[in-house]
Parts: sequence; structure tokens; C-alpha cells
Amino acid sequence: MNSIDQLYPLLQEPRKIVITTHQKPDPDAMGSSLGLYHFLLQLNHQVQVISPTNWAAFLDWMPGCDKVLDYENHTIKAEGIINDADWIFCLDFNALNRTKRMALMLEAAGAPKILIDHHREPQTEVFTWGVSDIQKSSTSEMIYDFICASGHQHLINDPIMKCLYAGVMGDTGSFRFSSATAGVHAMVASFKNNGLQHTEIHELIYDNYLENRYRFIGHVLTHRLDIDYEMNTALIWVTKQDLLKYHIKTGDTEGLVNYPLGIQGIKLAAILIDRDEKRKWSFRSKGEFDCNTFARRHFSGGGHFNAAGGESDESLEQNLKQFKLALKEYATQLRSY
Ligand code: 5GP
Ligand code: MN
Repeated sequence: MNSIDQLYPLLQEPRKIVITTHQKPDPDAMGSSLGLYHFLLQLNHQVQVISPTNWAAFLDWMPGCDKVLDYENHTIKAEGIINDADWIFCLDFNALNRTKRMALMLEAAGAPKILIDHHREPQTEVFTWGVSDIQKSSTSEMIYDFICASGHQHLINDPIMKCLYAGVMGDTGSFRFSSATAGVHAMVASFKNNGLQHTEIHELIYDNYLENRYRFIGHVLTHRLDIDYEMNTALIWVTKQDLLKYHIKTGDTEGLVNYPLGIQGIKLAAILIDRDEKRKWSFRSKGEFDCNTFARRHFSGGGHFNAAGGESDESLEQNLKQFKLALKEYATQLRSY
């Protein structure tokens, strides 16, 4: 993978560009993709954002979201555009398999791929140019750096600020995590100086759910939460029936894993969701527990040190057993907190 700096002079010539991101895009995935989209449009490129799957309704307000193609719903059209592309930007993921059914298509695509990402252990051999930096709060912050470093800071307009702010906000837990550095706050200060209205973005993302989600959370916290105080660990599981009964849609389970981290002493929280074809895990920790390695070793996943995910074809029950067994390996560490 060559350094992203080499791309800056090449940005001047208009090209056909695809921007893609990980499946079930979150605010950072969608925000960084659309932030880059609004930037490249101003340089007269022909740009299409393609999401591997659908996304949560709380992202629909993002400027340009109505132009994003859902690969699963428009496969033929999306494949035509990918085959025709000169460049493919891959944002907020480290390995092609994070794009689910799109992965084989991306692997075979003739166009050079460009990585901008902050996850651990990137698959650098598949990218022609790129930047991977686990110190960065979010891919949205990296798009801001990309625009500035390529000498185009003056092109940062209201749609770009809104998209990037939402992405950074999402990945820093609303500027709470240690990843919210002075650099992040300086970026936000520059946005504020240029007129960004930030309160409405928090409301559009976090105050935009339906009642059923809160009834569902009540049910889950009452009946589906197991706390092991000795191990300082909390486990939540969600069955298929729960998802059906409460009409749970993409995005409704976002953030649920964080609830038990508010309980005194809890350092590791895990959630297992019995999604359609797979069982999906999310892990969150405080301090020294390495979620990335845990997810990678036990649940074919990965991510960041304090936030990672994984998946499994095994049943919900089997997964719960596997989790409890896996935890035993970390008992000394978890008990010591
Ligand atoms: P979440 O738990 O919010 O789905 O994801 C937390 C972090 O872990 C995100 O950075 C996400 O990209 C990563 N992640 C989630 N699921 C997977 C997975 O199945 N595989 C890998 N490699 N990373 C994942
Ligand atoms: Mn991210």
C-alpha cells in the first residue's frame, strides 16, 4: 500500500469514483463516505457511494444519503458502477470481508483501491494507496485530514461538516473516549467557526428512535442481562423472538452494549444478537481489556482495543457457552479490576 500523499496531485483530473464502507454502516462509516463524496464532487469527479447493506434510519438525514446505493437491493446496478470505476475508496474497514457479499466483487474489481481507516491489522496488500492509523478517533477525522492535507480546506462546506461531525461524534461516544484528542476538538472548533450547528446533529442521531426501541431495551435489561461481578463482566443476549416481538430494525440495537458499562465495576460488556443468518457479537471494555484480540481469537472478528465485534454461524446457546468458556482464559485479568 503506497502512501495516501501520492494521491493528492492525482485528485485534479476528474475520474469515476466509488466510495464504499463496511456493512450496516454506522455514523462514522456513512459520515466519512458522504463527507468524502461532497468533497470529491467539488473537484468535478463522478462519485457514487455504495453501501454493502442497508443502514439505520437515523442516518437518512445526512446530506447525500438519498443518493447512496444499497448493494443488496441494487446489486446489478452497483456492480456495473464498480466495474466502470477508476478508483474505489474503502472507508472505515480494514478487510474486504467487512463488506459482506460485496467482498468478492471488490477483490476482482480492476480499479485501484484506496484505504482510509482506523482499525487494527489492515489488509494492506489489497490497497494501492491508503492510510491506516489506529490513533485516529474515526475515519471521519481522517477524511478531514485528507481534505486539509491535499490543500483543499477551503472546500469544506456545510454538508461536509455535518457528515464528518456526526461520524466523529459517533466513534468518540460524543467526545467522551480518549480518542477525542485536542486535534479532534480543533477540527470541531474550526467547524463551529464556519457555522456548524452541532446540537441538531446530536438530536438527529440520538433522539430519533421510535417508542418500541425503548420498550425493547426495558425488556432486555430486565430479562436478558447477566452480570458476573466477580469477573467484572456483563453479558446481554437478544433472541430472534425478541427482535420480532419489538419490531427491531437495523440501528435499534446500536449502543445497547454500552448500558451495562454504566454499572459500578463493570469493565467488559458483551452483547449477542441472533440476527438473520448469523449470531452477531459486540464487545466493549474500559481500560486494559483488549476487545480486538478477544473478538479475533474467539469470534472471527476484530475492531479496536476497547470496541470490537464478531460473528458466528453457531446457535445462540452455543455462542453463550463459548463466551463463558473463553472468559475463563481471561479470569485472572478480569478479576483483578
Ligand atoms: P460494533 O460492535 O459497533 O458492531 O463494532 C465495534 C467495532 O468492531 C467497529 O469498529 C467495527 O468495525 C468492528 N467490528 C464489528 N463487527 C466486526 C466483525 O464481525 N469483524 C471485524 N473484523 N470487525 C468488526
Ligand atoms: Mn469508525
